[in-house]
Amino acid sequence: PGSSAPSFVDVAIIGAGPAGCMAADVLSRFTDRGLSVRVFDKRSVKLDNGQADGLNSRTLEIFENLGFIESIEKEGSRMSEINFWNPDPETGRLIRTAKIPDTIPGLSRFQQTILHQGRIEAHLLEDAAKCSRGAVVPERSMLPESLDIDESLVSDLNAYPITLTVKHLSDAESNPDGYTGDATGTRSGLFRSSLLSAEEEEALYKQNGRGERVEVVKAKYLIGCDGAHSWTRRQLGIKMLGDQTTFVWGVLDMVPLTNFPDIRMRCAVHSANAGSVMVIPQERDLVRLYIQLPIQVRPGERADKSQFTPEFILETARKVLHPYTLETSHIDWYTGYHINQRLTDSFGVHNRVFLAGDACHTHSPKAGQGMNTSMQDTWNLCWKLGAVATGVAKPELVQTYSDERQVVAQQLINFDKKFSRLFSGKPSAADDLDDGVDLKEFKDVFVAGNLFGAGMSINYADSIVVGKNGSNGGVKSKQHLAAKLPVGERFYSAQVVNQASATADQLTTRIPFTGAFRLLIFPGDILKPAAKNRLAKLAEYLDGPASVVSKYTPSDLPRWSIIDPITIHCAKRTAIELYDFPQPSIFHPHNYKRVYVDEPSYHRGDGKAYETYGISKEEGAIVVVRPDQYTGLVVGLEDTELLDAYFAQFMLPAKDGGFPGSKVEKVLPPDWSQVAH
Ligand code: FAD
Repeated sequence: PGSSAPSFVDVAIIGAGPAGCMAADVLSRFTDRGLSVRVFDKRSVKLDNGQADGLNSRTLEIFENLGFIESIEKEGSRMSEINFWNPDPETGRLIRTAKIPDTIPGLSRFQQTILHQGRIEAHLLEDAAKCSRGAVVPERSMLPESLDIDESLVSDLNAYPITLTVKHLSDAESNPDGYTGDATGTRSGLFRSSLLSAEEEEALYKQNGRGERVEVVKAKYLIGCDGAHSWTRRQLGIKMLGDQTTFVWGVLDMVPLTNFPDIRMRCAVHSANAGSVMVIPQERDLVRLYIQLPIQVRPGERADKSQFTPEFILETARKVLHPYTLETSHIDWYTGYHINQRLTDSFGVHNRVFLAGDACHTHSPKAGQGMNTSMQDTWNLCWKLGAVATGVAKPELVQTYSDERQVVAQQLINFDKKFSRLFSGKPSAADDLDDGVDLKEFKDVFVAGNLFGAGMSINYADSIVVGKNGSNGGVKSKQHLAAKLPVGERFYSAQVVNQASATADQLTTRIPFTGAFRLLIFPGDILKPAAKNRLAKLAEYLDGPASVVSKYTPSDLPRWSIIDPITIHCAKRTAIELYDFPQPSIFHPHNYKRVYVDEPSYHRGDGKAYETYGISKEEGAIVVVRPDQYTGLVVGLEDTELLDAYFAQFMLPAKDGGFPGSKVEKVLPPDWSQVAH
């Protein structure tokens, strides 16, 4: 194969799985500011069944931010209840022993939903193509062959320190055996499972022909989203550390014919002697069964793939579910896996090359965390990278990616170790003196794990973007001003009423992902003079040339594209007019979605936003929400110097001097004598 002159790109992404597709979608929002992005995947076709399928509440909130939650809800299968089935202590017969809600009620507006990985990837890629006007689309049948980093260039932000050579594969090469499925339409996931070593998987892409040509790509940044066998990770010499357990599981996605009564519920089934099954109701009337297999492997060894036939996996499931019957009219997909719990000690090098998703953490799939965590990795990384690569933020900002996500990955591994052991162990019997699984403990771990599993237990530590306690020289929040919005945790929604239209809206629908920080201004009851003055003073600051909004917004961008102030007051809506609010920082008729009120709506009840967030109507607060919707800072309305200090830690003043509010023409209020009341 011949090579050609190098091409240049700002961000190269290797791998179009969930992590890579999320990276592509988030970065696509920066292409209108000149960012170029390429996504390479070695496979010729996208995934169309099997693999991961569980979306937790936090991921669904992110999809709401990205704007396609409605399609996911329409296509997916929502899960509401978990049923536990265990052997009757007297007879050993399988009985239902407990029911719990699948997602903790009240935790989020979205409950765990099942939709297969291929559809998730497709939604993210469709959105990326739409937001980038067709510029960000995956380039398939592209296999990277070498990676070189010129360390002398890594501190020059305009340089391209990364050289990647990528081979354009022939169709035969990029379409490994097993992908197309057998005559009955059953597809196998074995060729991409943990049963293969990295070398065996790699060989699949080299066995069928030869590449057409090799391209040299020079990149400023690179994200390795290339899964558990990550080629990028191996080029960087970063090791996966951890254990491989001896537990072996099979998976069947099928249309079941059964008299097991809870087949459309998520179930955890522990039989007395035949192992365990987890039941996951899927979309399109399919049901996924995770089945513990009676296959023995020693630590460090791989099980023989030929044992993992759909018939064998189904027969094992029948034994666990006995005396209930289990037949099928169609098996859609099957696979097998070892449970490995591994984590890299680094998520990248030089703040130029990053690893995300399975490339830096692997664990068992049953807790439904891999795809969610992988997408949430690049959700965290890419707003930072987008801001740094477009010259808005300092390079130090991307360092917080590994600081924040490595902790989450470690928590995930710890959780999974506990969860898998309890799931894979044999139930302890009354006369059993060995270390069998206590089924009460199993349920307790499940219940406790629900908060973690929903993606809601993340609390990012103090850093330049998390102003919690002011440790490490950072900024200290006045947390008591919004007592129920912990800094470092995800910002959650409350209903508010739009001042301009009287329509009830969820606040999170007003802050979709655009890469902007949001300043949520809660001034209190602005009919009271003290609150009105506080807001007027804040507006004066925001409009002035030294404010965080003016200083960091280049004058060729829309004024609210970097830091977006949104006001939620609690005065009586009908006693105040939009034109009573200061222009342009609080209200300006170019955007009517900037002033809201916390009061009962006509049709959807009362959101009680101040109460929900623990904000006093007398004191008020400013809540800084990061672009990924985590609370970054809580301060008072007078604390403009704290706002300055917070943003100065990681933002770069606009090169053109910024965009003061005084440059925005004010709109004259209407002639009130002509307005009928
Ligand atoms: P991957 O999905 O592995 O994607 C990697 C991409 O990179 C692929 O498209 C691949 O073709 C490409 N690639 C790899 N190497 C190269 C290379 N050298 N060059 C170019 N491209 C390359 N997670 C959940 O959250 N919920 C679940 O319910 C769940 N269920 C699961 C069930 C099963 C049976 C399995 C196997 C996994 C499950 N997971 C689940 C885990 C989930 O599938 C993974 O954690 C997730 O897919 C990781 O996403 P990723 O983008 O990091 O990697």
